[in-house]
Amino acid sequence: MAFELSPLPYDKSALAPFLSAKALEFHHDKHHAAYVKKLNELIQGTKYEAMSLEDIIRATADDKVKPTREVFNNASQVWNHDFFWRCMKPEGCGKPSGALADRLSHDFGGYDQFREEFKHAAETQFGSGWAWLVVDGGRLKVTQTGNALDPVDNGKPALLTIDVWEHAYYLDFQNRRPDFIATFLDHLVDWDFVAGNFEAVQEKVR
Ligand code: FE
Repeated sequence: MAFELSPLPYDKSALAPFLSAKALEFHHDKHHAAYVKKLNELIQGTKYEAMSLEDIIRATADDKVKPTREVFNNASQVWNHDFFWRCMKPEGCGKPSGALADRLSHDFGGYDQFREEFKHAAETQFGSGWAWLVVDGGRLKVTQTGNALDPVDNGKPALLTIDVWEHAYYLDFQNRRPDFIATFLDHLVDWDFVAGNFEAVQEKVR
């Protein structure tokens, strides 16, 4: 069955003035849509057609040879973008609270230390990629991945991500990736979504 482009969870103008409607239009309707379209073309008539997105990612992650690599790259980018949109909300931010805040304090020393580490990972990811807050061996960790890579294939549940491909920020911030990252962290993160992801991981290990 063909995959469909998930709609944005908010209106395209809802993240303004921090991210413009034009930037979301290009990022979601062109870039994200292109990954969905390409994935559907690649999996047509193959065993991947019957699989979930996560299963495709896990089944193709270790194969570095075309055309399987292309299936992985596009499936992974579809998953990453679906997840990324949900990490933001209009009137987002504030700071995490409750069990998630306690855990950030335990594993990073506090929210400010987490923020620095996440910001650093996003700024220093060389070229295109993503920065993540994941659960790794029971601890919260910040990681970065290049191109389409994500934590799905290595069993590290993702709690939060930021897209640092140039297409994510060039229209609004041009070359100023650090300004985009700071804007994301200070005005856009949906900490309720992140806390929900954390809670879901806790449920699984109980
Ligand atoms: Fe993107």
